[in-house]
Amino acid sequence: MFPFFSYYATFVFFFLLLFVPTLPARNLRDPPTELTVDVRNNTWHDFIRFLDAEKGSRVSGMSELKKYFRRFGYLSIPNQNLTDFFDENFELAILQYQKNYGLQKTGKLDSDTMKEIMSPRCGVSDKNHTSHRLHATIHDKLFYGQPRWNRPSPMTLTYAFSPYYTIDYISLSSIRTIFKRSFARWSSVIPVNFTEIYNYPFADIKIGFYRGDHGDGQPFDGVLGVLAHASLPEEGRFHLDGDERWAVDFKQEKSKVAVDLESVATHEIGHILGLDHSTVKEAIMYPRINPRTKKVNLKIGDVEAIQALYGANPNFNFSSLYDSDFSSSWSPYMERKRLSKWTTFFRSWWFSFLFFVFMIA
Ligand SMILES: [Zn+2]
Ligand SMILES: [Zn+2]
Repeated sequence: MFPFFSYYATFVFFFLLLFVPTLPARNLRDPPTELTVDVRNNTWHDFIRFLDAEKGSRVSGMSELKKYFRRFGYLSIPNQNLTDFFDENFELAILQYQKNYGLQKTGKLDSDTMKEIMSPRCGVSDKNHTSHRLHATIHDKLFYGQPRWNRPSPMTLTYAFSPYYTIDYISLSSIRTIFKRSFARWSSVIPVNFTEIYNYPFADIKIGFYRGDHGDGQPFDGVLGVLAHASLPEEGRFHLDGDERWAVDFKQEKSKVAVDLESVATHEIGHILGLDHSTVKEAIMYPRINPRTKKVNLKIGDVEAIQALYGANPNFNFSSLYDSDFSSSWSPYMERKRLSKWTTFFRSWWFSFLFFVFMIA
């Protein structure tokens, strides 16, 4: 009996040992704050009916999806010529989209691609001014925008909030604080200062919350879908979708479709300064953000891009960037902390159990 238990215990030991590293690893892949998006409320929810469509198929309403691709820079056919037929041009557009976002290049509307398409995003096109791309070879994952503000040094840009186009469920003082912090993130890396003024028509950057068609040819679309858009230098048009449920603190704001105002503000300021979208998921200039997600820290690619336009703030150093990365709830540091807590738990539990098995064997 004794040898049997010994072999049995050895087998159990090695079998259980296989599971020890897999338990905390699963935890690593789970984003810490992301919730499942309630897509029923999403503007683009209807696109789900095009799932698994491929070249040669015809689905009623597909021209609407083609308009989406056109709007964000992947199709150049005029809207009136878009049909419900999945043709070669559309396949090429999907392939370009998949390439841009690191998806598997299937040329089909597979589930990963549809998930990306239906996520809420910035209204600025992904190909806004790529023909003016600068320094594309520095980091081929980033688009560098050429236009910039040209003002005497030291450069100060003014911003103001529209007194009419606003939201009433967040106080103006909270909105001011959020924007002050968002502007400060950019001015900490480039020699540009931002000052709030109260004379709206004279501000360089004009910020407002607008609903639906608001007269600039880029109508908003209700809850989720397009969240905001901003113009390139030196126009200063900064529009947020007034139909979103904006949040300044997710502990207070419980809506499943709430969008973090500070994350979107920080992103749009990048456009105001001249940046295009990045295809790097972690970058501030990545065009999509899920509800109830906060992403406010500039990443190295964002900093390189903006400094290519304006030069570096003399007080900036890259080590401070790493420090700020570590303060984010999305940072690898936090995940390591979570991992170590679970690792400790599982290791202590498993090893106590294994020790017990050995003792009784
Ligand atoms: Zn954008
Ligand atoms: Zn607008």
